[in-house]
Amino acid sequence: MTTATELPASDPSSTSTLREDASRHPEEQAEPITMLNPDFPFSYDHYLAHPGGLGSVPDELLGTEVAVIGAGLSGLVTAYELMKLGLRPVVYEADQIGGRLRTAAFPAAPGVVADLGGMRFPVSGKAFYHYVDLLGLETQAFPNPLADATSSTVIELAGKKHYAEKPGDLPPFFREVADAWKAAVNDGAKFGEMQDAIRRRDAARIKELWNELLPLMDEQTFYGFIAASDSFKAAGFAHREAFGQVGFGTGGWDTDFPNSILEILRVVYTDADDQHRFIRGGAQRLPEALWQHAPSDLVHWPAGTSLASLHSGSPRGAVGKISRDPGGNLRVRERWGREASYPAVVTTCQSWLLSTRIHTEEALFPAELWTAIERSHYMQSSKTFVMVDRPFWKDIDPETGNEVLSMTLTDRLNRATYLLDNGPDQPAVILLSYTWNDDALKWLALDADERVELMLHSLEQIYPGVDIAGHIVGQPITVSWEADPNFMGAFKANLPGQYRYQQRLFTHFQQDSLPESQRGIFLAGDDVSFTAGWAEGAVTTGLNAVWGVINHLGGGSAEGNPGPGDLLDELGPISLD
Ligand code: FAD
Repeated sequence: MTTATELPASDPSSTSTLREDASRHPEEQAEPITMLNPDFPFSYDHYLAHPGGLGSVPDELLGTEVAVIGAGLSGLVTAYELMKLGLRPVVYEADQIGGRLRTAAFPAAPGVVADLGGMRFPVSGKAFYHYVDLLGLETQAFPNPLADATSSTVIELAGKKHYAEKPGDLPPFFREVADAWKAAVNDGAKFGEMQDAIRRRDAARIKELWNELLPLMDEQTFYGFIAASDSFKAAGFAHREAFGQVGFGTGGWDTDFPNSILEILRVVYTDADDQHRFIRGGAQRLPEALWQHAPSDLVHWPAGTSLASLHSGSPRGAVGKISRDPGGNLRVRERWGREASYPAVVTTCQSWLLSTRIHTEEALFPAELWTAIERSHYMQSSKTFVMVDRPFWKDIDPETGNEVLSMTLTDRLNRATYLLDNGPDQPAVILLSYTWNDDALKWLALDADERVELMLHSLEQIYPGVDIAGHIVGQPITVSWEADPNFMGAFKANLPGQYRYQQRLFTHFQQDSLPESQRGIFLAGDDVSFTAGWAEGAVTTGLNAVWGVINHLGGGSAEGNPGPGDLLDELGPISLD
């Protein structure tokens, strides 16, 4: 197991299936954990792989235009699949293709890149990897704390530094913390049973377990769950504190402590925080490839058609208004005035933007859905990268025999520092600090140089005498997603009691019970999914919207391949009062 505090591995042998030197994501073991979400355990990867495809629309509607707002991953998956069905997606984008899968190049060495949003993708995200594999993108194991791909990790808490090349190098205290967490999720949330059911894709059992837990857990915070567990109560405050700072998988999760425990359970059940890989050349390659790719199995369109060719190279501009026109179609107005009407519209921007940046006619959604949108909680997140001349961190300190700098988890300002190697003697990248919520807000008012100065100061306390600054080349790259008007936050995370809101947002694509005046506009994007903050949710909600559009236009699913909307009543999230 590769996680910082060794969360109970559902199958400790699973890492041995990783071909660390391979550039494609690993081969399956017989029954892998998938991101089969307990709220709706629908196998999107099987749906995508079915030879019959996702469905069809009536012949007379082939070529019909459908608006897709946002050229992030969700919008492009939606548009790509609509195009394959013979519809004509019209993609609108306010900024760049890729959305929160944004990769920046260092100007001094343009081949050296930094992933400003999504950067590490769990192999359990099967729908995400469907597209990664389809588009032939290369991936590589991500250097998370104590992962196989990470040569050394330093955990520095309250001024005490621990160096580890493997989890067993850490003092027994960290094993106790890991054991307390393992016991808490097993005793309080049936972790082992749930993973077993997910592994077997036993949707009925998953639902049974989850539906029992939901009413008990919906009003509980992550912290409340830990504090109430027998194991952490017995262990004491220091263990809770260290758990918050070191956490599991990718590192400290205490900035998530106020969030609903349901959000955390969805992550750990589905191994979303484990076995991460990154896309070589940057995560933005995925949306860019979707934009350029000409699928071989197209309906209606001539061979060679791609989203790029349908749009003559560029998406349309930012949307400023969505309304219903007198003929009953949906009217989309760009910020600079161009207007067009469509029988269906899919919105994939963060849903707050539907009231803050887009004038969306109120009557298009039920009032309860607006409540769900407005009450959504988004986390802040900041990242700061520098390029260095080479991966000098692998140099060995002659006194200690340790690497001079390691992947670092700390309770200082930086919280987490990642070392991203591009090969010996090649320019490399240090993600000096990746933070969420309060930790991210500390950086918001500071410019890139001020951020870097403070981050280097923190690292100097942990690594006295190591001249990191002396290796830096060119300008730093920094981002605070909450400061960007086209996002207004990094990703959603539900607070206690918000399950009801999430259920409304997620199920909205099944519109049978809505009045005619509220049909035809579909929400997608990771914030609509039950796993916000993971690209898998962007893909799967895009597929929900595709199902919604097919049905709205009078089409249906392919024979033998029921779509998400066909199975929503059977497998979908339950209603709490
Ligand atoms: P977006 O990417 O937000 O796309 C929406 C698009 O709508 C944007 O391009 C936006 O510009 C556009 N838009 C906004 N307003 C308008 C308008 N008025 N008109 C037209 N277009 C508009 N996921 C992982 O799986 N692994 C990770 O490691 C990971 N880390 C992350 C770290 C950070 C800091 C962030 C921010 C995200 C991370 N994620 C991660 C989440 C992942 O990036 C998202 O799930 C995914 O990129 C969301 O895609 P989307 O299409 O749903 O939304």
